[in-house]
Formats: sequence, C-alpha cells, structure tokens
Amino acid sequence: MADVTDGGGVDPACSGITLAMPPARESPDGAGPAPAVVARGLVKEYRRGNEVVRALDGVDLDVARGSSVAVVGPSGSGKSTLLHLISALDRPTSGQVTIAGRTVADAGDDELSDLRRDEVGFVFQFFNLLPTLSAWENVALPSVFAGERLSRLRPRAVELLERVGMGHRVEHRPAELSGGQLQRVAIARALLRSPSIVVADEPTGNLDTAAGDQVLDLLASLVHDGATLVMVTHSAEAAARAQRVVQIRDGRVAADDLTPGDLAALGD
Ligand code: ADP
Repeated sequence: MADVTDGGGVDPACSGITLAMPPARESPDGAGPAPAVVARGLVKEYRRGNEVVRALDGVDLDVARGSSVAVVGPSGSGKSTLLHLISALDRPTSGQVTIAGRTVADAGDDELSDLRRDEVGFVFQFFNLLPTLSAWENVALPSVFAGERLSRLRPRAVELLERVGMGHRVEHRPAELSGGQLQRVAIARALLRSPSIVVADEPTGNLDTAAGDQVLDLLASLVHDGATLVMVTHSAEAAARAQRVVQIRDGRVAADDLTPGDLAALGD
C-alpha cells in the first residue's frame, strides 16, 4: 500500500508521468526490441592470495525491456557479482555483457563510466545519498557529474521526486527523512538519466516491512510505466513481486522463473 499517513506515497496525479525511457532498439535479427541487457557465458574470477575464487561460472541472462527480474540465492552464490557485471561496474573475466546494445568488453574505462552513468540507474541497500545535499540536489547529482548545471536540473529532479511520492520533501536533507523516504529519493536519482536498466541491490534490506512494501509498490509501478529492473534480494516477499525470479547457486543459474511456491520453500 502506498503511504498515505505522511503524504509520502506515490502521488496518483503523477502516476501517468512519462519516465522518458530510451526508445527500444531493434535486435540485430529484427525480432522486436533488443533486450535491455544480454549476458553470455559470464565468468568472473577473483584472486585471493594464491587462490582463485570463481564467483560466476558461465551465466547467460537476457533481461527484457520493461520487465522486472529478481535474483535470489544463498550468500556467496554470486548475485552481487552478477549485478556488478550487468551494470558495467566491473568487467567479466570472460564472456560478454551488452547493455542497451553496447558491449562492455569493447568499452574503454571512460566509455564504461559513461555507459554506467547514462544507461544504468543504481539503487543501494543503504541509499548512498550525500548528507549535505537536499533531496532534489541528490536526485540531480548524476547529471551534475555529466557536466550539467545544478540549478537547471531542479525541475526534472522535482518532477521525479513527485513521481516517487516525495514532492513534499524536495528541500529536506537525508537526516530529516525516514528510511523509506530515503530509498524513494534514491530511486528518483536512479531514474534521472532515463536509464535502460535500474539495478537494485537489496533495496528493502534496510527497511521495515511497511516501508519495504511501499518501495516494492513503487518499483512495480515504475516497471508498469516502462522501466526495466533487476533486483538482488534475500527477501522471498520482495522476489515474489518481480515478474521473473532467477536463482543463482555456486556461480551458475540454478533456476529461472521460480514460482511463488518455490520461493516460499526457499525461505528468506
Ligand atoms: P552474493 O552476492 O551472492 O553474496 P558475491 O557475488 O558477493 O555473492 O560473491 C561470490 C563469491 O565471490 C564469494 O565467494 C565471494 O567471497 C567472492 N568475492 C566477491 N567479491 C570478491 C572480491 N572483490 N575479491 C575476492 N573474492 C570476492
């Protein structure tokens, strides 16, 4: 349920807002829009002293535009590593990731950071907002890093804050906001540059049940409006809200399309 007690729920008047998602590109074979993300044969190895840890061991994953995917699995199974690779935060040891038709392996460091900034919206468990900035300034920040003037970004930031039910808190600083409100500001920030994909690492992990439900409602409504979402979560309830659930185990895809019953059996 949307939060109505503090006026902070998703504003119904804004629910029809255009998120200005990028136009769908055709896939090379002409078979409709290309997926937002294509991962093929992903292997990621980390070196720990003399030991090599294989965190991912041959993962294939397509994420359709306008869809939501939850990634679940035990601790240490490779979920965060997968999220980092499909958001261009890191490069695979082998295999390929394509985001919005751009291949990560071909990108130089600068190109990779541009790709991240322009095509990926990030939502973190601990929000990662700057304490000295107001809500709207935090939302605007990714475009400031892209060279735009802060003052010019206010209308877009306020529009996005209204979209996430935070139109009444645009001048507040993080210390003046609740956990659920902080996460809604962070989600607005993730949308600023109309990314091809929003990645969320445990977005409800630091929230109580009610605030977590509101954040899940919001994420679902964004997907309904055309956003693409990949979320790593330990919560069966959060995963059950996604259109598709992928289970990772020992660095591999153990199951795709788990049902709510499967999720209940996995537990939190
Ligand atoms: P999950 O998100 O499912 O908990 P991770 O992707 O964080 O799993 O980790 C998968 C495996 O890779 C674990 O064995 C973890 O210890 C290892 N790992 C992750 N990041 C690093 C790193 N930077 N250096 C060394 N090992 C790492």
